[in-house]
Amino acid sequence: MADAKSGELMEKIVSLCKRKGFIFQSSEIYGGLNGFWDYGPLGADLKRNVKEAWWNRMTRMRDDIAGLDATIIMHPRIWKASGHVDTFTDPMVDCKTCKGRFRADQVHEIPCPQKPSKMVCECHGEKTEARPFNLMFETTVGPIRSDDNIAYLRPETAQAIFVQFKNVLETARQKVPFGIAQVGKAFRNEVTPRNFTFRSREFEQMELEFFIKPDEAVEAICGSVAVPSAPGHPGEPRPDWGWKMWHQYWVEERIRFYEEIGLPRTTLEEYWQKPAELAHYARATVDLLFKFPFGTQELEGIAARSDFDLSQHQRFCGKPMTVFDEELKAAWPRLDAPKQESLKQQYLQSRLNYLVRAGEEKEKAEAQAKADAEALGKGYYVPHVIEPSAGVDRLTLALLCNAYSEDQAPDEKGKMETRIVMRLHPRIAPVKVAVFPLLKNKPELVRKALEVRDLLRPHMPVFYDEAGAIGRRYRRQDEGGTPFGITVDFDTLGEKGPDLKDTVTLRERDSMRQERVRIADLPSILMDKIR
Ligand code: ATP
Repeated sequence: MADAKSGELMEKIVSLCKRKGFIFQSSEIYGGLNGFWDYGPLGADLKRNVKEAWWNRMTRMRDDIAGLDATIIMHPRIWKASGHVDTFTDPMVDCKTCKGRFRADQVHEIPCPQKPSKMVCECHGEKTEARPFNLMFETTVGPIRSDDNIAYLRPETAQAIFVQFKNVLETARQKVPFGIAQVGKAFRNEVTPRNFTFRSREFEQMELEFFIKPDEAVEAICGSVAVPSAPGHPGEPRPDWGWKMWHQYWVEERIRFYEEIGLPRTTLEEYWQKPAELAHYARATVDLLFKFPFGTQELEGIAARSDFDLSQHQRFCGKPMTVFDEELKAAWPRLDAPKQESLKQQYLQSRLNYLVRAGEEKEKAEAQAKADAEALGKGYYVPHVIEPSAGVDRLTLALLCNAYSEDQAPDEKGKMETRIVMRLHPRIAPVKVAVFPLLKNKPELVRKALEVRDLLRPHMPVFYDEAGAIGRRYRRQDEGGTPFGITVDFDTLGEKGPDLKDTVTLRERDSMRQERVRIADLPSILMDKIR
């Protein structure tokens, strides 16, 4: 639970976000809309950089992941197959006194709408029984409003990946193990949106579905299945990895990503869901939590989801979601009979468990599971999946919270004052460098500064600022998280002799250290620092 000091810190962050143009309340001039947020000029670039960093890491830097950009509204049966129509609910209660509506599991943490200074537990109002509330936003497709035309705004991006699995597999010419990545909007009609953008009703997700062979196939091909033997990153993927190794690999890969964009491991926590907390199809789920000022809360979930998702779509759409694995087919005849039998039995059992849980009649389920086990011996299976699923807005908020700091710096007259500085990692900072002429009323300085701006512009976002005292201009950039500042002064013009001509001061935001560098060297120096 957050204390008063962290509440104060959060207020400072929210107010900076508005003042500097990171995040605004949606529809603000109409009083706002609860759970919806807009990103201002700096926020839009910050968020774009976060998404690009994820996309680059997932797709461009790897051979085994392909991208997808699917629609927000999809066939409504997808949400039946995924379980969202029936079970994507939160328990909701009403307060009979203040008429507030709350998530039953959060009822003690929420301010009472009638007396915002009090928490609902203090409102003492009698609560109704909890009832399920489906979080999906409904709409209708086409000109006729009827139950037949109901569709949903997607509550997650992942399902599109499963339903396009076959198309991507074929066109990207991939083989299992491989992944499909997608970034896009998701919508949830959260009962109680709160903590700034942390829980919004419209948000963006970055999701990867990484498809792997079932352990039985790995064992048939490699003779054994590698399982984690030590904590930490298990290194480059190997063909004998079972699902546990892949799961550990993705947890560590995701932590590395966060470190690369400026969230140190010490700001994160891993939470391994307990067996009773796991969704019935999940074999393991790790939540990566960030220490927000309002509490340590989920940033991303990394779930080992077995073959549940593709199997569900296979049953609901009636089209096979199996892959043919050449290596498995070749390996199978080389196994001795008892090995073949034990692998088949193991696979049969896991298919049977799935089918029975999914509600198939016992006889039908047994026949299907038997057929699936026979197919395994011929090289066919439904891939399993590891799903790292992260929220763009939550990550952006984590980066903003982590970056916010106050220190002491001298003002124009050398007197120490409090400086607010957003220590955003140069890789994701919205503006990389600011360029200042020392004085705006000296045309030679302005001309030279504009030349520097134009030199750097093709390589990175640059902000040119000539208004106000130089110290104030630095402060403005510190608050916006700009990691570097360049000042063009009289030395640049060669007034102190030829040695300093065409050099500028380059100031680093966090240390406030300044060094003299040649203008011609600026692109390479800065490119190195922001890469
Ligand atoms: P929570 O328990 O916090 O509601 P969840 O476990 O339901 O989250 P997932 O369904 O696993 O979340 O979604 C994956 C990621 O999407 C989350 O880790 C989070 O970063 C993001 N996310 C989910 N719901 C929201 C929301 N309402 N607002 C902002 N981001 C969200």
